[in-house]
Amino acid sequence: MRSLMASRFLLVTSMPLRILFVDHSGALGGAELFLLDLARPYADTSTVITFESGRFTEQLEAQAVPYRILESGAALQRVRKNGTWMQGLYVLPALARTAQAVAQQARSHDVIVANSQKALLPAAWAARRTGTPLIWMVHDLLTPEHFGWMQRQLVTRIANASAALVAVNSRATARAFTDGGGTGPIIEIPNGLDAAPFERARQNDSQALRTALNLPHDAPVLGVFSRLAAWKGQHVLLEALHDLPTAHVLIVGEAAFPGDKPYAEQLRTQAHHPALRGRVHFAGHRADIPDLMAACTLIVHTSTAAEPFGRVVAEGLLARRPVVATDAGGVPEIIRPQHSGLLVPPGDSAALAAACQSLLDDPDWAATLAHTGAADVRTRYGLKRMHAQFEEALRRVHPSVRIAA
Ligand code: UDP
Repeated sequence: MRSLMASRFLLVTSMPLRILFVDHSGALGGAELFLLDLARPYADTSTVITFESGRFTEQLEAQAVPYRILESGAALQRVRKNGTWMQGLYVLPALARTAQAVAQQARSHDVIVANSQKALLPAAWAARRTGTPLIWMVHDLLTPEHFGWMQRQLVTRIANASAALVAVNSRATARAFTDGGGTGPIIEIPNGLDAAPFERARQNDSQALRTALNLPHDAPVLGVFSRLAAWKGQHVLLEALHDLPTAHVLIVGEAAFPGDKPYAEQLRTQAHHPALRGRVHFAGHRADIPDLMAACTLIVHTSTAAEPFGRVVAEGLLARRPVVATDAGGVPEIIRPQHSGLLVPPGDSAALAAACQSLLDDPDWAATLAHTGAADVRTRYGLKRMHAQFEEALRRVHPSVRIAA
């Protein structure tokens, strides 16, 4: 709260606002990285609820953000993206216990922020039960490409009935929500990124990092930074690598969910092809993304399905590296093609190879794109801007908040 006083807006309440943030996951995905940054300034008065421990709760602990783990909510993890009614019935008792526990917490808070679909269910019940205003932060594209009909219907109806405000991370996410019958009101709060670690990383000795990662010093390194999952499309970059004979690939990320482990194995098998041998480097999950990006020649985003926002794309630009990304979902909102980066059709390895080669062939042009991209991200996706947008969201749902310019 104190650090918010320095922002462009002044948050005026009779007492500091107490926010209950709810996120189902203990893993550290893009939505949880967003929440860490969002919740940090409210740490004095607010609480984060998660349903399991993991890298996310480790970070909450390290950054002194108060949190509670509601173990009853872990059963919700068993509901899969295209889950059936039967699966839904199976977790109902655990859902009821979790909703009650969230309601109990909500009684000592002023606003609830649900940061995921699985968090929305108990948070919505708690909001109605206690009369606490609910903001649902949507990090998913509610489209048939990503979710089954039942899940889309359920969350959209719950949001319509219970959320005082729906906050989306991109225009693409907003469109998917309203196309599916979502009514809102809606506010856009894209990810805000801290530029400082990326600036610091650019001063580092990236050759030393290349040595540590067993990467060559004199060959182009194409970095891909995402959890390993079929729709994140790392296999497309390995296909493209056949057409980029001098390049190496750095794959950063791990299979975050058990169902993605066979895909991770498939990538390792693909990397053993004689034409690729020794040119594919797996780094596993890493926390030093700015440093690793600074050690790469290009940053490549390969998702084969539309990305709701695409945090890695904005990070790649902030690292002042040329970025090639797939043209779907929220990504074209971040990249201005031919000005701040290049866009290719999802799943098209030939187009990906051609785009990478064009940047490798013309380093001056690549540097110009990277420079423009970094300036764009600093202007449009700064942390301060995200916090100001969140303050606006709070003002809309809570009567005691007034914002003075
Ligand atoms: N990331 C990370 N370590 C890794 C791989 C990825 O910290 O080993 C981060 C990455 O830098 C980005 C986030 O995970 O900030 C992924 O967010 P994105 O929106 O790209 O995808 P999501 O995982 O949310 O689908």
